[in-house]
Amino acid sequence: MAIDLGIDLGTANSLVVLRGKGIVVSEPSVVGLDRRSQKVLKVGNEAFEMAGKTPENIVVIRPLKSGVIADDYTTEIMLKYLITKAKAHAGFSLFPQRLRVVVGVPTGATPVERRAVEEACRNAGARDVWLVQEPLAAAIGAGLPVTEARGNMIVDIGGGTTEAAVFSLGGLVSWKSVPVAGDAFTERIIEFVKGEFNLFIGERTAETIKVNIGSAYPLDKAQMEVTGRDLLTGLPKRITISSDAVREAFRELLNTVVDTVKETLENTPPELIADVMETGFYISGGGSLLKGLDRLLSERTGVPVHMVEDPLTAVARGAGILAGNARLLKEISST
Ligand code: ADP
Ligand code: MG
Repeated sequence: MAIDLGIDLGTANSLVVLRGKGIVVSEPSVVGLDRRSQKVLKVGNEAFEMAGKTPENIVVIRPLKSGVIADDYTTEIMLKYLITKAKAHAGFSLFPQRLRVVVGVPTGATPVERRAVEEACRNAGARDVWLVQEPLAAAIGAGLPVTEARGNMIVDIGGGTTEAAVFSLGGLVSWKSVPVAGDAFTERIIEFVKGEFNLFIGERTAETIKVNIGSAYPLDKAQMEVTGRDLLTGLPKRITISSDAVREAFRELLNTVVDTVKETLENTPPELIADVMETGFYISGGGSLLKGLDRLLSERTGVPVHMVEDPLTAVARGAGILAGNARLLKEISST
């Protein structure tokens, strides 16, 4: 018996699917190190808890900050942690079990970065390591017929990157990746509140604003009370922020996401475009949960847009399907 794992090493969240068991690990992609000794203190959930309230001697790192590998060392730590944790779910065996790992990598990853991921998996005990383009994994997780001779398109909007991709016959035909996704929207809220209200808010507060009242398209009006630190007095202050103001602040970022999709469509051969026009494209990743994004994209591109089911787990589920399907895996990696 082999242990087959599908891994989504995301900029914000990492997930592992164990064949036969489903998702067994789902934690933030963060590593906490001792600043001086570089010793690993915490990984995943526990490291995330430290972020924002860390004493000076602790540094919290996100190994894949903007969709590329920002740091080989912490990437390896993260992968080892995920693999070890997932393996523990496989149960006890008297015999050494072959470990096969399928990992989603960003389309923007360089050969050096790809090799670093592969190496890290091997160091964590994997015998077979397969790298698969993230959007392709997302599409498989969403159940799209990626190996058919027709154009399929998915736009994965994660924390660090937006990746748009069109594929046919199991391979990518055209794609574009930009370092603008969910986290950029959160950071924009922090800047906006600072500029508009002279108020400093933290990342968690900004994310709550984004999730609660953030939108890409004018929908129901909403507002929210927010507490932060007044930059002038240094004291706590309470303000009210509206969904319209937040959307206005998002304008440029939204344009970037729309342009990424448009450019990908423009670089796609005509017959495949026709397929995409007919069926529409899919959006996945946590960033795709921004309210009204589907509607904005559809209106601005003229193509129908569908949200994949459970967008935060699509890449992991796709990698998991591939880990348990050698034939599909070969078909895809030969393209
Ligand atoms: P990655 O693949 O890069 O790890 P994810 O697909 O896990 O990223 O998505 C993380 C991003 O999704 C974060 O920026 C987070 O704020 C955002 N996100 C999660 N849920 C929502 C939501 N309900 N509305 C808007 N954004 C969301
Ligand atoms: Mg992702």
